[in-house]
Amino acid sequence: MAETMGKSEEEMAKAMLASGLIGVFIATRWTFAAEVGGCQAEGGSAAAMAAGALVTMAGGTLPQAIAASSLAFQSMLGLICDPIANRVEAPCLGKNVLAASNAVSCANMALADFDPLIPFDQVVDAAKNVARMMPREHRCTSLGGLAITPASLALEQRLSERKLKSCATGCGSCS
Ligand code: SF4
Repeated sequence: MAETMGKSEEEMAKAMLASGLIGVFIATRWTFAAEVGGCQAEGGSAAAMAAGALVTMAGGTLPQAIAASSLAFQSMLGLICDPIANRVEAPCLGKNVLAASNAVSCANMALADFDPLIPFDQVVDAAKNVARMMPREHRCTSLGGLAITPASLALEQRLSERKLKSCATGCGSCS
């Protein structure tokens, strides 16, 4: 977006700083780890950080940037972590695309002075509470959600057989 909007390196750096500060608020109150909080801790945090950065880059105010972060995080509460075939590739790619579009939409809403109603720190606390009630099967263990669908299990099996075959060749690529 910075390149499309023709922003300077300094403006990009300021946006990254805003994003980092939102991240500090999350990290000091809670976590980024999906093993603790599910995908809401990864994708939700990323969306919140990106939304704050985008508002900053678009020349929004500090309250608007924090409102964007709150809105973006709110939309991702409860998102589970269920990597298909026990690999961090799918549905991760789609979830990250979702987080990015969410960030853009929420940045635009905040710039239009949409009221997030819940302050950002309370949204982080809410995500933390949701995580406490989330079963371990939905927190990056590959024991729930899409990870245990027949298609996912079959894919995992296929991939592990392929790995065994490559081990037999002695190529050393999996060591
Ligand atoms: S589902 Fe994928 S992107 Fe989301 S937390 Fe799990 S591993 Fe990360």
